[in-house]
Amino acid sequence: MYYRKRSLEDIPEENTNIWSCSQEECNGWIRDDFAFKYVPTCGFCHSTMVSSTRMLPTLVNTNKDMKSLKMGTIITE
Ligand SMILES: [Zn+2]
Repeated sequence: MYYRKRSLEDIPEENTNIWSCSQEECNGWIRDDFAFKYVPTCGFCHSTMVSSTRMLPTLVNTNKDMKSLKMGTIITE
C-alpha cells in the first residue's frame, strides 16, 4: 500500500525546456528557467549543453503559496 513515495503523488508534470549535456555518458542537465543569453556549459564536465525538453514536475515557485512564503524577498527591482 505504501510503496509509492508520497512526494511523487499529485505532482503535475509538464513538458519543460531544459538544457542537457551534449555528452552521451553525462547526465548533467538544467532547467531552462533563466533565459540564457548564451549556451550554458555542463556543471559536471563543462561540455556544451544542448536545448531539449523533458517531462518534469511543474515548478513549485510558480505556486502562489510559495510566493506568499517569500514575501520578505524582493525578486525584481
Ligand atoms: Zn556533462
